[in-house]
Amino acid sequence: MEQDSKLLRAGREPEQGLAPALERSVTFHNMPLAEGGSPYGRGQAPVAAEAEQILGDLEDARSLVFSSGMTSWTVLALTVLAPGRALAIPDGGYYGFDTLAATLLEPWGVEVRRFSRTDPEAYRRACEGAALALIETPSNPTLDVTDIAAAAETAHAGGALLVCDNTTATPLQQRPLDLGADVTLQSATKYLSGHSDTLAGVLSLRDAALAERLQHLRTETGTVLAPDPSWLLLRGLRTLAVRVQRQSATALDLAGRLGGHPAVRRVYYPGLAEAPGHEVAVSQMQGGFGGLLAFELASAEAAEQVERRLQLIHPATSLGSVESLIERRDRIEPEGRVPPGLLRLSVGLEHVDDLWADLEAALAG
Ligand code: PLP
Repeated sequence: MEQDSKLLRAGREPEQGLAPALERSVTFHNMPLAEGGSPYGRGQAPVAAEAEQILGDLEDARSLVFSSGMTSWTVLALTVLAPGRALAIPDGGYYGFDTLAATLLEPWGVEVRRFSRTDPEAYRRACEGAALALIETPSNPTLDVTDIAAAAETAHAGGALLVCDNTTATPLQQRPLDLGADVTLQSATKYLSGHSDTLAGVLSLRDAALAERLQHLRTETGTVLAPDPSWLLLRGLRTLAVRVQRQSATALDLAGRLGGHPAVRRVYYPGLAEAPGHEVAVSQMQGGFGGLLAFELASAEAAEQVERRLQLIHPATSLGSVESLIERRDRIEPEGRVPPGLLRLSVGLEHVDDLWADLEAALAG
């Protein structure tokens, strides 16, 4: 079955209604306990298990849902790492990984090796003897592309497991496990749920023993996804294919138009033929290049003026929603990680001509 159809069928039993049932109880009779069920909400909610089945089907893997993208990362890191073990993380991409490495993992005794994502030799050295390596492609917010198959080969040669953050591409446009990654991580807060109303995370993997260990720590820590956000995640998944398709087409169109605008210094989008990672993106992504792009203006002031002038696009954080969102990232991220005039644009479902009219007016003003 194609991915689009899996989103609508997986997990549904003939005797169930078409919409998922929302069971809010966190305590269940345990004599007898339903097969595979959990007697207490810290284990697993039935509606969360439905979301896991769909997500796992998309990646031909076992999927585990968590209360956020960051708790999924935390549980993975605490399971695979230990004091004295090493973690390789890129110097760009979602800044939360770096922050958590500094506030939790390094004080715990993990050796955190930060590598330049444009330097394969630095990546190779960082993976040497490491327990875990992280890549993110296309990355947030500068949409850098990493060759997943090459990264997996290097990580494995060094003895590390490779986790690939697949948030911006989603399993519909990129399948990192097929390319050699051991685990995929997604902030399901973004495209998978897609409506700015759910915080969730997901890990997918094919190693049953590691999945058991992750599930165990999730239960111990109570980082599981609660019933209500699980239901909203299921609601979002049903339209994921059409959202991603539309958002990718609009993003490609806007990236091209922004590239021709005199106020724009640079556009960051892997779908553009001149983008540094374009060829690799073409080889490892399917059906488009995602709905996230970034563009750079001359200064922080110029970027903030654009944010203020926009009428349709929301000046708001996050990405992957049905509404278009824009944010000057240097205001949010630790100093020096991104250019001051960099605006990240998460393209929603509005008409491309209306989005362009909004951007053009804000840039002209
Ligand atoms: N990975 C990426 C690429 C992200 O953009 C984010 C959040 O912005 C996360 C992980 C963390 O996810 P969450 O906010 O759901 O904890």
